[in-house]
Amino acid sequence: MVKVDVKYTKLFINNEWVDAVSKKTFATINPQDETVIAEVAEGDKADVDIAVAAAKKAFHRYSTWRTMDASKRGQLMLKLADLIESQAKYLAELETLDCGKPVKISEEEVYHSASVIRYYAGKADKILGNTIPADGEVFSMTVKEPVGVCAQIIPWNYPITMLSWKIAPALAAGCTIILKPAEQTPLTALAVAALIKEAGFPPGVVNIIPGYGPTAGAALTHHPDVDKVAFTGSTEVGRLILGAAPAANLKRVTLELGGKSPLVVFDDADVEQAAQIAHEAAFANGGQCCCAGTRTFVQAGIYEQFVAKAAEIANNRSVGNPYDDVQQGPQIDQDMYSKVLGYIEAGKSGGARCVAGGNKLGDKGYYIKPTVFADVNDDMTIAREEIFGPVQSILKFETFEEVVDRANDTNYGLGAGVITNDITLALSFAKLVKAGSVWINTYDHVTSQTPFGGCKESGIGRELGEDGINQYLETKTITLALPKIPQL
Ligand code: NAP
Ligand code: MG
Repeated sequence: MVKVDVKYTKLFINNEWVDAVSKKTFATINPQDETVIAEVAEGDKADVDIAVAAAKKAFHRYSTWRTMDASKRGQLMLKLADLIESQAKYLAELETLDCGKPVKISEEEVYHSASVIRYYAGKADKILGNTIPADGEVFSMTVKEPVGVCAQIIPWNYPITMLSWKIAPALAAGCTIILKPAEQTPLTALAVAALIKEAGFPPGVVNIIPGYGPTAGAALTHHPDVDKVAFTGSTEVGRLILGAAPAANLKRVTLELGGKSPLVVFDDADVEQAAQIAHEAAFANGGQCCCAGTRTFVQAGIYEQFVAKAAEIANNRSVGNPYDDVQQGPQIDQDMYSKVLGYIEAGKSGGARCVAGGNKLGDKGYYIKPTVFADVNDDMTIAREEIFGPVQSILKFETFEEVVDRANDTNYGLGAGVITNDITLALSFAKLVKAGSVWINTYDHVTSQTPFGGCKESGIGRELGEDGINQYLETKTITLALPKIPQL
């Protein structure tokens, strides 16, 4: 087992490390062997109140942060990105310890996080309003202002990545932040907090409160001094937040929720290549990915060939110690492990044909064999519900019109994919599918520059790209009366 030093376990408020008011702590668990990694301070309402007061003070119009040049905000962010990269190996090992993902993937995610912070650093002094040819003898313009104090609640599947997607646009916009990491994965958020302080951000600009959703998370959602909540996680909790947050003080809400994304493979595709793309779409991050392409629709002409290839690739997927050179580590925790194994049983008892995996791997840690079901029907539980584990469902289709309707027959609308050499077919599908992102001949290609988010029950708003920063800005219209111009 790799030894990783856990340096920070307290709450981070006002650039200081503090215990929870209650003095309570909770254990964060290593999913490889179910041992306790560390006890972490458990923030709840009392701590949220202190952190929100700190963030509110840091957002005061005469504060260091609000009066700082926008270009200086960008420079602090660039410094933070450099510091994160300088500790990439350590942060990756810490991430893997806490959530079990293969360490080389953790490292890629650390670099991705730095790139997201750099992308938004460049935007800090390029936030532009408009001049508007308004009716009347006036001069009108808009300015874009930061929304204010932002609560950001993130999940455990991409801890450091989600942190960067949340804090980077908010900081570039000039907001202040209270971030709650998921109870399963508080460690990298706290390690990044130390770097935020080192980079020179003023106290109170970023505050990190580990703790539980129903206590710390709910306190943030209900707080009257929080101007916006940005949440990534389950649709169930997203609904709760959408109910509670605007009711409290009409705070802004953006949500990035679940999915049951379709990936459609047409007859003309190269079967081997298509099966490889579909495999990564379903199994990346052990299937613990909101936009996982878990409904693989394959056209009848290549169906059996594709199923055989998909099973072969899944059987060859390396699963094991995430510090080794593997493709998949353990699932995040006991709850998700049991839930995913329950879905695998539901697939078998529901009549789907299990052609790879189909059970757990070993007796220690939350390891599950990459599992592929063929002959899946649209109404089976495994085709309808988000599994959030290493399970691919392969469905057969005959025509374009049919597969568009079936792909859209879900409450979700996060991602979608299509594999074909026929550009007209690909773009027709892209136009008709209801999803926030459509990938053609690739899948889950997400970058700092491209907006990401969902339709329907997959969410509200977009992250990344230009859209991402707009979620942290309010538009102010300023109109000046001009002297009346004499008529000729
Ligand atoms: P979750 O409960 O939605 O957790 C996401 C975040 O919300 C965590 O920080 C969580 O805190 C917090 N939270 C929970 N209840 C809250 C509340 N009442 N008010 C405010 N915040 C609250 O997700 P989960 O239980 O970890 O996973 C369950 C399912 O969610 C998965 O099976 C999967 O389907 C989906 N999921 C989706 C994503 C995604 O990227 N869209 C990510 C993770 C999970 P705690 O740490 O205490 O839970
Ligand atoms: Mg953990």
